[in-house]
Amino acid sequence: MEIYILSIFPNMFESVFNETIIKRAQEKKLVKIETVNIRDFTHDKHRTTDDYPYGGGAGMVMKPEPIYEAMDYVKEKSPDVHTILLTPAGEIFNQDKAKELSKKDSIAIICGRYEGFDERVRYLADEEISLGRFVLSGGEIAAMAIVDATVRLIPGVLGNEESLKEESFEDGLIEYPQYTRPRVYRGMAVPDILLSGNHKKIKEWRMQKAKERTLKWMGVEDG
Ligand code: SAM
Repeated sequence: MEIYILSIFPNMFESVFNETIIKRAQEKKLVKIETVNIRDFTHDKHRTTDDYPYGGGAGMVMKPEPIYEAMDYVKEKSPDVHTILLTPAGEIFNQDKAKELSKKDSIAIICGRYEGFDERVRYLADEEISLGRFVLSGGEIAAMAIVDATVRLIPGVLGNEESLKEESFEDGLIEYPQYTRPRVYRGMAVPDILLSGNHKKIKEWRMQKAKERTLKWMGVEDG
């Protein structure tokens, strides 16, 4: 899979993409990530990517030309790239969206800054995605979250594919409680059933707990 991230702050991605799972996925050539600096597609001496809004108002708006030219560069490499525009009011990102994206050959994620994009940038996008109903200062943190959640679903990326099957949101359930050593910590003990060695009973207990958690979570989600 190829991932292109268009941003005016490409350095922000360095540490996140050069550690742990995403790093390994790139080394295994399961994913190729390229950060594209929108500023490289400006033509003025100050490498300007923003300008005043027509009609007045607070803040600056991202100019269309450098973003269009950055996308021309991406499309030359990957003509059928699936293009995502990050906006606070877009479709809220979730596990199903991560699964959908993990099956694509090539995606481009456009990160905004300032007061957002010139409206014409919207025509570049196949879809608009939001990380949640809050306003970040820029799309970079949202892009990192989307790339992380997506890349770990690409077959071969995680060492243990089985672990994916039991994660939250699989089969519509929240993951059951997990414990590791020590057996008792600050008076909190690991449930005896997990030490019983009875795998059938452990499976039943986990299913029961997952259901309880899911019901509780649904209550919270519904407000
Ligand atoms: N003025 C814009 C508005 O009211 O919708 C907010 C602009 S925000 C400060 C700058 C950029 O951060 C946005 O263009 C978008 O790319 C990104 N961004 C902010 N919040 C986001 C969110 N919740 N999800 C995804 N991207 C977000």
